[in-house]
Amino acid sequence: MSKATEFRLEARPRIPEGLERLEELANDLFYSWDHGVRNLFARIDPVLWQRVEHNPKLFLRRVAQERLDDAAQDRAFLAEYRQVLSSYDVYVESEPGPEVTEILDPTRDLVAYFCAEFGFHESFPIYSGGLGILAGDHCKAASDLGLPFVAVGLLYQQGYFIQTIDAQGHQIARYKSHSSDELPISPVEVNGELLKVSVPFPGRTVTARVWEARVGHIRLYLLDSHTPENNDEDQNLTLQLYGGDESTRISQEMLLGIGGTRVLEALGLQPSAWHINEGHAAFQILERCRQLLQQGIEFAAALEAVAASTLFTTHTPVPAGHDIFSRELVQHALGTYLEESGLDMNKVFALGSRDGGHNFNMTSLGLRGSRFHNGVSRIHGGVASQMEGYVWPQVPPNENPIGHITNGVHVPTFLAPEWASLFDIQAPTWKSELRNPEFWNFVDHIPDYHYWSVHKALKQQMGEFVVEQLARQHERNGTGHSVTERMTRQLVSPEKDTLVIGFARRFATYKRATLIFSDLERLERLLTDPDHPVVLIFAGKAHPKDNPGQQLIKVIHDLSMRPALMGHIILLEDYDQAMARYLLAGVDVWLNNPEYPKEASGTSGEKAALNGALNLSVLDGWWGEGYDGTNGWAITPRDTGLDPEFRNEEEARDLLDLLEFEIIPLYYDRASQGYSKGWVARSKASMKTITPRFNSQRMVMDYVENYYEPASAQGRRLLADGASTARELAEWKARVREAWPGVSISVVGCVECRCAYDETVELRVEAVLNGLTAEDVRVECLVTPECTGSHDAPGTDRFLLTMESVQDGKTVFATRVPPPYPGLQTLRLRMYPYHPALTHLLEMGSMLWV
Ligand SMILES: *Cc1c(COP(=O)(O)O)cnc(C)c1O
Repeated sequence: MSKATEFRLEARPRIPEGLERLEELANDLFYSWDHGVRNLFARIDPVLWQRVEHNPKLFLRRVAQERLDDAAQDRAFLAEYRQVLSSYDVYVESEPGPEVTEILDPTRDLVAYFCAEFGFHESFPIYSGGLGILAGDHCKAASDLGLPFVAVGLLYQQGYFIQTIDAQGHQIARYKSHSSDELPISPVEVNGELLKVSVPFPGRTVTARVWEARVGHIRLYLLDSHTPENNDEDQNLTLQLYGGDESTRISQEMLLGIGGTRVLEALGLQPSAWHINEGHAAFQILERCRQLLQQGIEFAAALEAVAASTLFTTHTPVPAGHDIFSRELVQHALGTYLEESGLDMNKVFALGSRDGGHNFNMTSLGLRGSRFHNGVSRIHGGVASQMEGYVWPQVPPNENPIGHITNGVHVPTFLAPEWASLFDIQAPTWKSELRNPEFWNFVDHIPDYHYWSVHKALKQQMGEFVVEQLARQHERNGTGHSVTERMTRQLVSPEKDTLVIGFARRFATYKRATLIFSDLERLERLLTDPDHPVVLIFAGKAHPKDNPGQQLIKVIHDLSMRPALMGHIILLEDYDQAMARYLLAGVDVWLNNPEYPKEASGTSGEKAALNGALNLSVLDGWWGEGYDGTNGWAITPRDTGLDPEFRNEEEARDLLDLLEFEIIPLYYDRASQGYSKGWVARSKASMKTITPRFNSQRMVMDYVENYYEPASAQGRRLLADGASTARELAEWKARVREAWPGVSISVVGCVECRCAYDETVELRVEAVLNGLTAEDVRVECLVTPECTGSHDAPGTDRFLLTMESVQDGKTVFATRVPPPYPGLQTLRLRMYPYHPALTHLLEMGSMLWV
């Protein structure tokens, strides 16, 4: 029998009078954090709302006309609709507060934020994991704060893959195309015409369409190569996030960096500070240099001006997270662009190569093309300083310019509405107190039984969600109903209130998803104790090319199917933001056990803590700062020099010890009230200490104060008067670079080795400056105490030496130093180049020690 051709037809409803603004709400990512808006859609047709995966635009195309007409007549619905709209209008019309306007001037300052992925909501799948969610949270907080801010990214037609896990535990990656009219975006027009930008590629031009996503107060612009001007292959450049090969990757990054900068130019936007969020977007540096070249500024000066207004954030110490391209690929892909732009290939290549090597590293380009740089937690800032120290070869890593701002999460997005309602009653102004740790002591005043009842309700919702997911998964795999029943029996009986531990994130190997299985016999005994049972829930995607990551999924799948463990280990497929919200709000313990120091920050544990779950984590990333001994549990990482297998065993034992001797006993220490008082106390300590410190408003304000404002000021300073300061600085740097190999420094006479505490010591050095002058350098003495005894913690004191004379071609610098510490101390003398227009004292990376 021949199969009939099917024609798909979508009959769209008309939005009834009185409900017109539903379309407006569907077109603003405000819905991604506002439960009121989402509830409105869910209320019209709850089943359809689930079926369209909480996508408001798709919902409005598929909903039955009667449903809308009924809603338009339903007085209760209309009242809710008006209330949601009024809070939306209040939000959109609100002005930025003084904490922002005292630092940034919206008439003059604008922050441009570039990133390869953005994770706002499950209905907008252009993210893969933590980096994307972080970028989404950054934009949401920028909107909440009313920052002058614009974001730039790529629109992937298929986005990241959809994951299924088959009956044998294999990950299957499926891609689904999303048409632009089912996403919360609209085409950008300039002067009544669709905006398109083009970027020179080898032998052709690639054109990109431009889309705008509204995120409350701010806008995100997305480029997309799926347009008829391009050949078929180029139309697919932006098909998938992190798909294709190296050539696809570099092409995507050219569209993002070069094309993205052209979008802002076409829109007449002139950012004062540019934030490159991870190396993928670093090509914007080249395009901004090209713009200045056109104004007659030569390359070195242009680079100074561009770098001065640029912040580069690195997000991972894991090599796979850094894009490294061969010289041939860069030459091929960028050749035409560089030629048309008048940029010199060798100079450009030098920005991305390490020690003159053959590879081009986007992280190096980001670091050399910016004067502000940061890692994303205290530990990671230190690790990045070490790893990237080659950019400042003569500077000790702890003094190089890489700082840190610890990641935070967007509270309205990840806090369950049940908690938000409770806070509204207990502390009505909590939304404006997200950066005030003292305020959060109010959590202690919530009655324990009330606190626990909210947690329990969320846990039950999570349980129902998990049961439904598992049933769907196993039914499809043909596993049979009885298996699903046994799998979920711990979760379906709320009266048992079983301890639930969650672990969900990308299955990258350094995250060690299977660490807890290191001693399977012991784990089995702990999980299956009939009086004190425990359930472990796992979820996450492995990159389709990451075979070891996919192997972890299979290991967990196989364990979850073992009869003895069934129901105690659960593996869910297709982790996304919707699942994250259920798990993070519903589990008792959130587990994270990465291999130190590879978890740059991690953020999911922060989301769990907002909702009262307790973290059980390796002291890496944010938890290195968040853990205070009362608010969760910590696994201390073993020395990284040790054998990795030994480290794993040791840390796994700590993990199981904590479970056996602290976590399980505390959780099940239930008196007559039915919950554990000690547990609630710990959970409250976690919520009140973590919420006000690890949220995205705190994070974004740190960026404003430490980077956006200084970068705006420094960029203006270098660009003023036809970039005269940038030119001067570039010329000076060239002179210093030329002279430095012939510069030397030595001490004159000898330094005293004894003095009385109230005397001073004379320091005198002479330098051969090889054509530089005393103004071009700084000579300083560092003093550090050797043995601190009972006085204050050790520090370092600095004393500048001033020029005394020039004799026989040698410049003498001297000073008298009062010993800053009692007893033994170490004096070290050094010299580095100095110019008043430097952004960071040591940015040249040159330094000589006596
Ligand atoms: C927060 C989040 C992540 C990041 O998780 P980490 O544990 O920080 O790696 C990944 N995916 C989703 C869907 C998230 O919400």
